[in-house]
Amino acid sequence: MYDNWETLERECMNCNKCQLCQTRTHVVFGTGNRNAEVMFIGEGPGENEDLQGEPFVGRGGQLLDKMLTAVDLDRKKNIYIGNMVKCRPPKNRDPRPEEQEMCIDWLRNQVKLIRPKIIVCLGRIAAAKIIKSDIKITKEHGIFFEKNGVLMMAMLHPAAVLRDPRKKPEAFEDFLKLQEKIKEVCDHTYEDIEE
Ligand code: SF4
Repeated sequence: MYDNWETLERECMNCNKCQLCQTRTHVVFGTGNRNAEVMFIGEGPGENEDLQGEPFVGRGGQLLDKMLTAVDLDRKKNIYIGNMVKCRPPKNRDPRPEEQEMCIDWLRNQVKLIRPKIIVCLGRIAAAKIIKSDIKITKEHGIFFEKNGVLMMAMLHPAAVLRDPRKKPEAFEDFLKLQEKIKEVCDHTYEDIEE
């Protein structure tokens, strides 16, 4: 584990611990406020993310940003967004268990430096790895679980909501639940947005 962002980011950007390093364009390290109380975690970069080196860009990212804005959250100001796997799996396949295992220490290190009060997992794969392996995302999204003193919630993946727009209202409801929880347990998240 590294105790500072500079070394962590430099080492991660040069990582070749798993085979995904051979096909990536960019390592997608993560973005946002490194003092955030709320951290969003997705499963891994897609094509646009790989090309731009940023998590959640493209149509899914735009939808995510819209929902974030509606509850006064902003990836540049008061949250941090990262992925469980930092390099794009070819053809957007799910990251393999061994790739997840190899990569998860980078995320663990980010979590250790940020020390978030709330972690939101976007989609089943991230939720299964981070919250609980048998999570049923369709039934258990929007529910807070406590693990090692951190509140954790799964949300539907923005790409899944884009594929089935009927899911938008229930997806948005989770953002409202998150907003309530932030007001209850966070100290500066809604002050950071005003700066
Ligand atoms: S996916 Fe993770 S472990 Fe694999 S090369 Fe990229 S940064 Fe390293």
